[in-house]
Amino acid sequence: MSRKSGRVKRIISRLFKERQIYHRSDGVVHFISMSTKTQIALAAVLGSFLLWVAYASVNVVFKEQIIVAKERDARVMETAYTKQLQKQMRAYDDVASLNVIMEQQFDATMAEISSRHQTLKNMVERKFAIDQTIDTLAKGLSEAGAPNGAKPSNGNRIMIDVAPAETTPRQSRLSILRKEAIEEAAKGSTQVPSGSPAAAAIDNMESAAADLYVEQMLLLASLEERATKEIDTLKMVMDSTGVSADEIVPPAKITNLVLAQGGPYIDVSNVSDASTAFFRHANRAGILIDELTTMQEAITRLPLSSPLMVSRRYTSGYGVRRDPITGRAANHFGIDFAAAWASPVTTTAAGVVKFAGTKNGWGRVVEVDHGNGFMTRYAHLNRITVSAGQKLALHDKVGELGSSGRSTGPHVHYEVLFKGKPKNPRRFIEAGRYVFES
Ligand SMILES: [Zn+2]
Repeated sequence: MSRKSGRVKRIISRLFKERQIYHRSDGVVHFISMSTKTQIALAAVLGSFLLWVAYASVNVVFKEQIIVAKERDARVMETAYTKQLQKQMRAYDDVASLNVIMEQQFDATMAEISSRHQTLKNMVERKFAIDQTIDTLAKGLSEAGAPNGAKPSNGNRIMIDVAPAETTPRQSRLSILRKEAIEEAAKGSTQVPSGSPAAAAIDNMESAAADLYVEQMLLLASLEERATKEIDTLKMVMDSTGVSADEIVPPAKITNLVLAQGGPYIDVSNVSDASTAFFRHANRAGILIDELTTMQEAITRLPLSSPLMVSRRYTSGYGVRRDPITGRAANHFGIDFAAAWASPVTTTAAGVVKFAGTKNGWGRVVEVDHGNGFMTRYAHLNRITVSAGQKLALHDKVGELGSSGRSTGPHVHYEVLFKGKPKNPRRFIEAGRYVFES
């Protein structure tokens, strides 16, 4: 007896397992939970109603026969009722199986939407982190001001200038994306008899999913567009230093990075069809964001600032000049800034102290390795405040301005080296100033 009732309980709980009904309004998905109890109650109401309909129908249709031949008609009635019940059971099964189809369809749609959402979320978050790093760098560089010590006056020139007009108007791009989205949604749709409530429900769901898909695609397209624009801007900054972007970040490095990461944004196992437009665009956007990350890392290691944050005077340029001590023409592989004695001399980019000590001619000198082949040199210091191996951020103090070594007065001799070869530091400072001043 208890075994039997246990079985009944199991069947009931399986038939009436908790269900959620979803509906979407104003772009928000809501759901109503239907508990086992509620479903049993609804089933009971429906069941009684059906029984009553069956009984009433049988009574009306077979009334006369019931009166004339009660015995025979009782059987007829019984048969009719059984038939009616069986028919109802089949109808119920149809509806139940339709529910399963709809549930599966809904789950699949939701899984795709949430997988795409996750992909987008990852990309937007990484893009945001890149933007923040560049913003911080821009602020730091703008604090250093122009090479002559004046605070920059103009707005973010290059950043504004590179913003191109949209090549495809938003409206036509939107309709192309929408067409793609609807075609793809239709490919995965379940075959349900048209005109049925289930078909209408699935249609509604697919149309809502397609709308969402279009929005997701637009977000992706804008990510691609912005990443491309920012990569171009960063390349332009690099090129303007006199060392080309391709030398600073070899294209092979980016290719390797992309290959190594293999599209870290997309979990292929969650993508039902890897050939979807979303997948293609997401892959492309992912590659662009990887490239942008590499460029951003490289730019934060470029010595784009001035070695003095305080009021200073640019006293000697890069290249051939008359040597201040011998009076003969000689190559000057750096630039000189004069400022108040013991002014803090600061790093022009993040890096690691490679050398801190005395060198012939340079007096007390600090050399900082910035990676990617870049090194800076700060000479004639009065005092050194760092030691070899120390990690430094942008604008960290390396020492005090002085006149040690071959020097005729208090100044800092500043050099930028790329792969051991001297470069004109002024071009780096200008590049930093023109792009990031705000
Ligand atoms: Zn010098």
